[in-house]
Amino acid sequence: MPKTIIEPFRIKMVEPIQMTTKQERIKLLKQAHYNTFLLQAKDVIIDLLTDSGTSAMSSAQWSAMMLGDESYAGARSWIKMEDSVKDITNYKYILPTHQGRAAERILYGHLGGKGKVFISNTHFDTTRANIEFSGAEAVDCLTEVGKNSATEHPFKGNLDIKKLNDTINDWGAKNVGAVILTVTNNSGGGQPVSMNNAKEVAQACKAHGVLFILDACRIAENSYFIKQREDGFENYTYKQIAQEMFSLADGCTMSAKKDAMVNMGGFLALNNDKLAEECTNLLIITEGFSTYGGLSGRDMEALAVGFQEVFDADYLHYRITSITYLGDKLNAMGVPIMLPVGGHAVYIDARKFYSHIPINQYPGQSLVCDLYEKGGIRSVEIGSVMFGKYDDKGDLIPAAMDLVRLAIPRRVYTQSHIDYVIEIFEELLKNRRKSKGIIITKETEFLRHFTAHFKRID
Ligand SMILES: *Cc1c(COP(=O)(O)O)cnc(C)c1O
Repeated sequence: MPKTIIEPFRIKMVEPIQMTTKQERIKLLKQAHYNTFLLQAKDVIIDLLTDSGTSAMSSAQWSAMMLGDESYAGARSWIKMEDSVKDITNYKYILPTHQGRAAERILYGHLGGKGKVFISNTHFDTTRANIEFSGAEAVDCLTEVGKNSATEHPFKGNLDIKKLNDTINDWGAKNVGAVILTVTNNSGGGQPVSMNNAKEVAQACKAHGVLFILDACRIAENSYFIKQREDGFENYTYKQIAQEMFSLADGCTMSAKKDAMVNMGGFLALNNDKLAEECTNLLIITEGFSTYGGLSGRDMEALAVGFQEVFDADYLHYRITSITYLGDKLNAMGVPIMLPVGGHAVYIDARKFYSHIPINQYPGQSLVCDLYEKGGIRSVEIGSVMFGKYDDKGDLIPAAMDLVRLAIPRRVYTQSHIDYVIEIFEELLKNRRKSKGIIITKETEFLRHFTAHFKRID
């Protein structure tokens, strides 16, 4: 078998990348106060900040957009989106939203409130925020193996069934807003959930009479892992695997900016008549009428096509193997990463990579800065800058891990771009003891990572 991964597409429209020199980047990063969120995108060579809304659309999606029906009610484009989403999810009611968090706000805002609890393998940050904003609590019940960055396991995204049952019993089933299975588990490193685990979650939810919702942002990538790793699915198509998983739950929320390969869009899907009616009312109040929900006709056209395209076997094979390629190369070189490699990103353990930098000098942020200065690569710290807090004495309470995420946009970069990233890591590895820590010079109380200013320690 040839080793080179051939991108299963040809490129017919290009977006130029503006090259920069190291000297220019040192200056640009200083101007951005060592916070890569404050850089202009044009000054980035390889942008691995996020895989959300950054996909390249296909010629089929672009041509569908030209057919966008912008009617207020009952547009043809809406019918296409509804048909496409129903074909895959088989849920009775599809509610369009402008992105995933809007679906979350409607559903969890409605089901939540004081005294309620939501249980997940890991709540994604917008999911948690919407739940907590309603006054409810969000409890994570990830399996123990999922919490260890170095242990290999095929399904590190699985929800711990014992913890699930215990939590439901502790709170009482009537106080459980919903059980939310996030596939793949974004905050847990893009790790997949097995079909067997989803079945056990469904059984537990049925037994207790609680609602079971899928956070389906990366369900196609999750289906790829099931076909490769779980017995009994060898002869299924990826679409059939996703359909089976959807059939286990009572509904889903979806950010179409991930596995529906659009730059903006999402939906909420439900089976329950009453719940769907209540959510539709909320949708109309804040998002838009129930046949567009904040999306233009052309957005819905692109989503209808993208949500089918993502299940293409050649695409999914390329998608997952190209991310594994990056992870395997870094791992072989001696860069400490989260294993096994997940579905949409490679996570570097910065505490191990820069073991000479104390945790309160933010080794993750230091690596983010070095990646930009050395190679013009933009990544994001997921660690003590993002989640750190202070104790009464003003000392840092660090996050559980200091990770740096390299998220790979869909269909955007080729193998040579990725080889370039690998070369930059080779250089960083050689000089890693020279890298300096970081201090925060300015920060806000909430979500400080977006706006904070930093300084290098001399
Ligand atoms: C991105 C994401 C969301 C939120 O979706 P947005 O489109 O960014 O609002 C929710 N859950 C998961 C797992 C996600 O990755």
